[in-house]
Amino acid sequence: MMQNKYNPSIKCSVKECSYHHGKENFCSLNEINVGKCKSSVDTSDATQCASFDKTGVQ
Ligand code: SF4
Repeated sequence: MMQNKYNPSIKCSVKECSYHHGKENFCSLNEINVGKCKSSVDTSDATQCASFDKTGVQ
């Protein structure tokens, strides 16, 4: 899915997400929520974008 605009403050390479710009590696949302994958976070691997959405993406 191609978004018209992107937020230059949110770099993202997750092209599978509905909010990804589609061409540039940025998110199109004004803000995102970041969560954690486990109760105790010690590396970036344990964090995730909680705003990810796959609606409308093939
Ligand atoms: S919502 Fe999260 S995963 Fe989706 S494009 Fe934005 S930053 Fe990337």
